[in-house]
Amino acid sequence: MKILVVGNGGREHALAWKMLQSQRIKQVICVPGNGGTATNPQCQNLSLRVDDFAGIARFALVHNISLVVVGPELPLALGITDYLRRQNLVVFGPTQAGAQIESSKAWAKTLMQSAGVPTPGFAMFADKDEAIAYLKQQAAPIVVKADGLAAGKGVTVAQTIEEAVAAVEFLFKHKFNAVVIEECVTGQEVSVLALTDGITIRPLLPAQDHKRIGEGDTGLNTGGMGAFAPSPLVNPSLMARIEQDILQPTVQALQERGIDYRGVLYAGLMITPQGDPTVLEFNCRFGDPETQAILPLLETPLHELLLACTGRKLAELPPISWHPGAAACVVAAAQGYPGAYQKGHVINGIEQAQERGTTVFCAGTQFKKEQMLTDGGRVLAVTATGETLEGAIAATYRAIDCIEFEGMYYRKDIGHRVTQT
Ligand code: ATP
Repeated sequence: MKILVVGNGGREHALAWKMLQSQRIKQVICVPGNGGTATNPQCQNLSLRVDDFAGIARFALVHNISLVVVGPELPLALGITDYLRRQNLVVFGPTQAGAQIESSKAWAKTLMQSAGVPTPGFAMFADKDEAIAYLKQQAAPIVVKADGLAAGKGVTVAQTIEEAVAAVEFLFKHKFNAVVIEECVTGQEVSVLALTDGITIRPLLPAQDHKRIGEGDTGLNTGGMGAFAPSPLVNPSLMARIEQDILQPTVQALQERGIDYRGVLYAGLMITPQGDPTVLEFNCRFGDPETQAILPLLETPLHELLLACTGRKLAELPPISWHPGAAACVVAAAQGYPGAYQKGHVINGIEQAQERGTTVFCAGTQFKKEQMLTDGGRVLAVTATGETLEGAIAATYRAIDCIEFEGMYYRKDIGHRVTQT
């Protein structure tokens, strides 16, 4: 069976790597892929843009692709699934209508409100002056969110009303047509990703991401600097609540709106100090880097799960099986990220890191003239598994020390929030 994965991040490298563990998968085509997928003999990189739907469809039809797995949110929001399904291709990922759950915060909040899903209180504005007038009657801290894809840069947790007003002004100046103003909640953040065929859901192990660039969760927001799974914050009874009160009603609300949602429903949750889960955001795809921490623990063949979603047969599968233990993943980034950074530096030590029993998932990399070069902000992620989370974290850090490239930066405190309590 041949599978095509759309995207070029660490998440897509991990998806390809996991699917190739099954004897049934002969080849994974990565569009456009990265240096990591370029060096896997069972992967083939195809140099097309992720929004070149016609090119992707042509290739998939000619080469008998059994399943297309869409990694990033952008092609989903642009309707890649609708386009490819019209050509009779099998696609894992929601339609454009379903992808609104991520691409429009206002749409997602309205859906949650109507489905009774717990989420912080909010107001939405399409007019800048009305938003500012509203803010002036509120107390800080308060959260301002862009209504549209902003690559993790559309959210301001404002400590003062002046900061919130500045965020609103900035967003309207930068082509956003609406904002969501949200109550600020405290607690610990957890990501619960569920596979769904539009009716049935199967949650994956709960994970925790580290969004800030600096140690101790300081500095600018990034795409994610590390992750681990399973999160000890989510015990079985909390997971049951998340399923019953959040994931199931959301999938049902999508279904009631006639939306064909076959893909990942990713809930970004805050677990409040009282222990209650509330939804900060939904994403319509696998998380990056959560996927790099979750998939090494997955025992059930990944392609079987994804095909069960696309075939609306998830209910027929036995429960997902997992390897015992935990996994941790640490992202190595280029100096300057998430601001400006250089590309083209040689990366050494990937093999040595893998000889220490870890897996290196490449992200912003390219393989050129027999050398792995940096080619993005988040360059790669090292993942290790262990009997305990502490063991997995220690193994990851032992291995990442083998890797070097000019300006390499990584956080030294992945997992600190749970290992220090
Ligand atoms: P991502 O990069 O995950 O796609 P995003 O830009 O879509 O993020 P959110 O996940 O909604 O935005 O928010 C980003 C971060 O802002 C959250 O991870 C959380 O730390 C913080 N945040 C968002 N909403 C709230 C809230 N209501 N109260 C407190 N903090 C919040």
